[in-house]
Amino acid sequence: MSSTELSAKLFSDACAVIPGGVNSPVRAFTSVGGTPRFLVKGEGYRLTDVDGNTYVDLVCSWGPMILGHAHPAVVEAVTAAAAHGLSFGAPTPTESELAGEIINRVAPVERVRLVNSGTEATMSAIRLARGFTGRPKIIKFSGCYHGHSDALLADAGSGVATLGLPSSPGVTGAAAADTIVLPYNDVAAVEAAFAELGSEIAAVISEASPGNMGTVPPLPGYNEALRRITAEHGALLILDEVMTGFRVSRSGWYGVDPVDADLFTFGKVMSGGLPAAAFGGRAEVMERLAPLGPVYQAGTLSGNPVAMAAGLATLRNADDAVYARLDANADRLDALFTEALSKASVPHTVQRAGNMLSVFFTDAPVTDFASARATETWRFPAFFHALLDAGIYPPCSAYETWFVSAALDDAAFEQIAEALPAAARAAANAKGPDA
Ligand code: PLP
Repeated sequence: MSSTELSAKLFSDACAVIPGGVNSPVRAFTSVGGTPRFLVKGEGYRLTDVDGNTYVDLVCSWGPMILGHAHPAVVEAVTAAAAHGLSFGAPTPTESELAGEIINRVAPVERVRLVNSGTEATMSAIRLARGFTGRPKIIKFSGCYHGHSDALLADAGSGVATLGLPSSPGVTGAAAADTIVLPYNDVAAVEAAFAELGSEIAAVISEASPGNMGTVPPLPGYNEALRRITAEHGALLILDEVMTGFRVSRSGWYGVDPVDADLFTFGKVMSGGLPAAAFGGRAEVMERLAPLGPVYQAGTLSGNPVAMAAGLATLRNADDAVYARLDANADRLDALFTEALSKASVPHTVQRAGNMLSVFFTDAPVTDFASARATETWRFPAFFHALLDAGIYPPCSAYETWFVSAALDDAAFEQIAEALPAAARAAANAKGPDA
């Protein structure tokens, strides 16, 4: 690794004008220490930072870049769309095309509303569920992250977990009071909450397969049980596919575990790396949205034509071969982790949800946020920095999922294979909190 001097200088400059120097907390390297790299270029699987260091990307912008960076077809589509104007605040043809792509892939989705971020998608889905049912309460699961809207921050994953925050100042008691937080993968807890408060519960929202406390897939039949219980009590089921959608299969987690939720939320892959997201579901529910119905939801830039072009080009270029490649690349990474960590005698469990994966430093399976937090996360910073120094770009938190792209090739895997033994030894030698 050459110098990181310019990144350090830019980070210090950024800290003078942006809180913590970053525009999304997890980027700040708070839990691993050190200076975030300032990136200037992405091409295929390779990232380049401002000091000229290159990295094999295992973050993929936290999921979206399944085709790799600057994929020629996506760049061409975005460039062509931009040349025709950046935003009109009026309907454009590609919005219905992208909505149609989503509807064709996820059978229970009959109507789609396009928004600008995953946060907006889940926030709007919750409002719609409350408007549709006339009920106030929602159930979310500990360790699941659905963006940073007030009602959904309680006991959340992602950066909230990384920074160890139970909730956030600024969220009023009133905003949080209608959010019931339950342990993940615990059907009995959901049954008990409905037995007590069923007539007040508008919806259960769950990540279709959680990736924000690390990768913690639902136990077999779990999403189906959520479907059954919500239907029995007249509540809606919202499956959040912002992370899994169009990544783990062409139909997202729905293609792996087809549970007919009332509402789904999408983001990341469907916008190809530009700011767009969506929520959709049964026409009967979705048509309660303004202008057809009374539930208000809007956005100046929603359905932005450049973002639509990026999303459409990404989905249309993600053919069966791309999904086969993503799965094969996740298998290769999984095998390399397992080999290196086993050789270094580091307790570990590599968890998978299709091509999403994460490494937990424990021998036990991780099924919920409590078991994720009980792992030896103190080994992670040493593992992370050894990889980063060897030109591999891992997620900068033990609670984040690792994302592969279809662009990874043999040369990339050789570099990962060379870097992992030293990283595994660094994890083995890391000092725990009691040392
Ligand atoms: N839902 C899930 C499952 C996510 O993983 C995320 C972000 O990582 C969000 C919602 C929020 O999306 P955004 O960051 O686009 O607001």
